[in-house]
Amino acid sequence: MIDQYGRNITYLRLSVTDRCNLRCRYCMPPEGVCKKPHAQMMTEDEMIAAVEAAASLGVTKLRVTGGEPLVKRNIVSICRRAARVPGIEELCLTTNGVLLPQLSAQLCEAGVSRINLSLDTLDPDKYARITRVGRLEQALAGLEAALTAGWRVKINTVLIGGFNDDEVGRLAGLTLRYPVDVRFIELMPMLDSDEFGEAAFIPCTAVLERLPQAAPVAPDGGVARLYRLPGAQGNIGLISPVSDHFCGACNRIRLTADGKLKPCLHSADEISLRGLTKQQMRERMREVIWNKPACHAELSAHHHSLAGRNMNQIGG
Ligand code: SAM
Ligand code: SF4
Repeated sequence: MIDQYGRNITYLRLSVTDRCNLRCRYCMPPEGVCKKPHAQMMTEDEMIAAVEAAASLGVTKLRVTGGEPLVKRNIVSICRRAARVPGIEELCLTTNGVLLPQLSAQLCEAGVSRINLSLDTLDPDKYARITRVGRLEQALAGLEAALTAGWRVKINTVLIGGFNDDEVGRLAGLTLRYPVDVRFIELMPMLDSDEFGEAAFIPCTAVLERLPQAAPVAPDGGVARLYRLPGAQGNIGLISPVSDHFCGACNRIRLTADGKLKPCLHSADEISLRGLTKQQMRERMREVIWNKPACHAELSAHHHSLAGRNMNQIGG
């Protein structure tokens, strides 16, 4: 469906849970989430009805996200049903990878076609520090499992000044070793991100300063600007929601695990779909898409996102 600014909305990001088995410092507080009663969360049937409603309005790409989607007990069933919704051409999943060794075969068979795997460092101590509770070897085992399953894999790295900017070359080097894309994403100032102030934000252009040999390549239809190292098997992507936002080309809407439709990641606007029939969801979605804001408010170390949520409660 086309919104009032002429953007064709074809992409739904579905957060299936706000819980996670990690506690990344830029994403969620150390104590995790306060568990909400079941009645406040979307059921599997409601999620599938929402996907059907979205598909009937022209959504063709679905990304399952979280929190960590793989901690959701019925994740395989959600993926299997979502992949079969008429009109959905692509089912992607964003994960920290920790549970992929156990689940990759089932998810592949269920119809997941692509994986984005989050990895901010290749140093075991730094991985433990940024995730608070994680072990690097688990994420790397997840990467191996994703590649063995035959998925096209994109690695997401949040660029954090003073933390991993010294590792840009090493992380980009993964594209030489594996058939993966590595995408550097600017740090977005969310609800509880005081720990990551001015010094932690660096623009994606800093990546290019550290990779002078990277050559530009044609975009693939996504939001990343793409580059390639000589001899690499995959691309380097730069995603700059803060320094150079892409609102004018935004084709996405989001649905949170508690059933709130978000027309814009960085706006406080939330429209509930819980308790509605599929037809009612469709009508509400149509309104939300039409009224999707042209652009989000300023984002910077001084201007936090107006989302009013942390990223684990939205899905990225
Ligand atoms: N748990 C999964 C994962 O980590 O891939 C999926 C959910 S996570 C919220 C989705 C993406 O959002 C991850 O790639 C994560 O690094 C990114 N993210 C979380 N907080 C962020 C922030 N403040 N700025 C930029 N990216 C962020
Ligand atoms: Fe969990 Fe993903 Fe957030 Fe890390 S970025 S805490 S893995 S939801």
